[in-house]
Amino acid sequence: MLVVGNWKMNLDLAAARQLSSALVSSLGRQDHVEVGICPPFVALDAVYSVLHGSGIRLGAQNMHEADNGAFTGEVSAPMLRAVGCHYVILGHSERRQFFVETDAGVSRKAVQARAHRLVPIVCVGESLPEREAEQHETVVQRQLRESLENVELNHASELVVAYEPVWAIGTGRTASPEQVEAMHGHIRRQLEHRFGRTIGAGIAILYGGSVKPDNAADLFDRPDVDGGLIGGASLKADDFLSIVQAARR
Ligand code: PEP
Repeated sequence: MLVVGNWKMNLDLAAARQLSSALVSSLGRQDHVEVGICPPFVALDAVYSVLHGSGIRLGAQNMHEADNGAFTGEVSAPMLRAVGCHYVILGHSERRQFFVETDAGVSRKAVQARAHRLVPIVCVGESLPEREAEQHETVVQRQLRESLENVELNHASELVVAYEPVWAIGTGRTASPEQVEAMHGHIRRQLEHRFGRTIGAGIAILYGGSVKPDNAADLFDRPDVDGGLIGGASLKADDFLSIVQAARR
């Protein structure tokens, strides 16, 4: 199981240090639950100093597809590696919605992430109108196909996929365990088709969208749910720790 916190554009440096220290002292080294946190870029270095040696892994929330160059405001994969990142979230729906990220762009970034030995957490998920029109499986299938184009894997641990229905992110409205189970099964079949049975069966598929301490266990119990990508609830140590606890069961 894998539980990753996406802090989004929240917490100043002092608060980032405080939250990561609280997690390190409570979690230590995890047994069968892996934990990652993705602070804003400016806090990565400081948070890495806190996490170092703890077993909790560092991730970034985005990156550029080039190594370096005239791309004002951007951050590259080698830069993320240099500050200790293991994961990078790619194609989060907020990036797709507010920063016009496309599946083709996500695929270029995912290839670049792999070239620098970062593990991409590739996000997919349908909008509410797409769900209501019963297009959700088709939409997610297309997102997976195009976002993972040219991505080569030697091992399942080199990629994470997060299913995050857009209508459930930050809304307090969670997909039902049945909806999550059905979609994760669908994603698993696509991954096995794309990467072969052995690798496809081992890729972690996270659910994200208003996961809270009181609904995490029900979601994590479902087949093909290998953990969660946690937004709002990752900003409070107690809530995040309860969600990690739910993944341990
Ligand atoms: C997210 O942003 O990835 C997310 C799942 O957010 P929340 O948990 O707040 O819905």
